[in-house]
Amino acid sequence: MPDEVLIVGAGPTGLTAAVELARRGVLPRVIERRDALSPLSRAVGLLPASMEILEAGGAAAAIRAEAVALRRAVFHRGARPVATLPLRPGDGRRLLALPQDRTEAHLLAAFERRGGRVEFGRALEALEQDADGVRVVIGGRQGRVARVLGADGAHSTVRAALGLPFDGLTLDGDWSIADVDSPDWPLPEDFAIYLLPGGDACIVVPLAAGRYRVIATGPEALPMLPVPMTVARLRRAGAFRIMVRQVPEYGRGAVQLAGDAAHVHSPVGGRGMNLGIADAADWAARLDEGRLEGYSAARHAAGRATIRLSEFGRRTLLTDGPRRRAALAVLALADLVPALGRRIAGRILAS
Ligand SMILES: Cc1cc2nc3c(=O)[nH]c(=O)nc-3n(C[C@H](O)[C@H](O)[C@H](O)COP(=O)(O)OP(=O)(O)OC[C@H]3O[C@@H](n4cnc5c(N)ncnc54)[C@H](O)[C@@H]3O)c2cc1C
Repeated sequence: MPDEVLIVGAGPTGLTAAVELARRGVLPRVIERRDALSPLSRAVGLLPASMEILEAGGAAAAIRAEAVALRRAVFHRGARPVATLPLRPGDGRRLLALPQDRTEAHLLAAFERRGGRVEFGRALEALEQDADGVRVVIGGRQGRVARVLGADGAHSTVRAALGLPFDGLTLDGDWSIADVDSPDWPLPEDFAIYLLPGGDACIVVPLAAGRYRVIATGPEALPMLPVPMTVARLRRAGAFRIMVRQVPEYGRGAVQLAGDAAHVHSPVGGRGMNLGIADAADWAARLDEGRLEGYSAARHAAGRATIRLSEFGRRTLLTDGPRRRAALAVLALADLVPALGRRIAGRILAS
């Protein structure tokens, strides 16, 4: 294990990497540009594979106590329900919903319990590798570290310093979210998907009791919802562009990338944060075991498979044509044939 390991970024990826190293007895240095953790809810879904990682790190119990275990995915054509998929296939696996800021808070607490500390308000400004390791500039001061993990998000400074391209595309048009308090929403434990004419969609996901995320493929989420929703409080609304991109290599020499610094894709399938958590766990295990050389190929393949799955879902559900109709027919059949429903749910719950 090298002397000093630097993790750049305290999002879910950087914090998972920090916890995974700390539980192996190595306390990394973690720097975060912000003055505190992000207060934004962003990613919601936690897959069973992520929970296994967080279990080992000591954050899972608190997450489970606070999260909503989603019961079903309910597909609608416009306002009309057309298919229901159980999301608790009976083998103990669950798809948990929790706002990302809460997942991050539990990860930070787990890191601090192991003696770790995040240096908030400190940004990596530059990085250069030479024969002796990595020269870094943090907050205007030069330093040296043995290893760096760039977990610094989609606009990664580490990726830029390595000169790695971020190949892919940016989708046309804005998507949007609204986080609302709604005391009487009728599907409090369900993932509700409303497929709209023209290949649009609107989705409602529970965030906590009486609190929901509405996400839509247009610039304003709430007006796109084809059913009435009582909005007691609008906590946050915003629009964003979707990028589908991946680096060709997950690092060079003593510097690796993980999470959104290495890959971004649409929220269809809810994989983004989960993929970053898996990158982080794999990086920490390989670093501990001295086999980092296989990290880039393994995680690039995992990222490519996830992006393909997410893009398949996006292109199938967000087109108004035969593919969407065929998918809905299969889902409607799964309503009638429980074994098929369990099989599809199993695929959704797999990492
Ligand atoms: C509106 C929205 C909705 C989303 N919904 C979903 C969803 O439903 N499901 C899903 O799976 N994903 C979703 N995502 C994506 C998800 O939020 C990301 O995949 C996840 O945050 C990636 O985590 P990360 O730790 O890799 O990167 P980030 O969360 O971006 O964290 C990177 C951290 O690095 C810090 N940083 C950056 N540069 C530096 C520097 N030079 N020095 C020090 N620190 C630095 C940043 O401040 C930041 O805290 C959504 C994203 C957005 C914006």
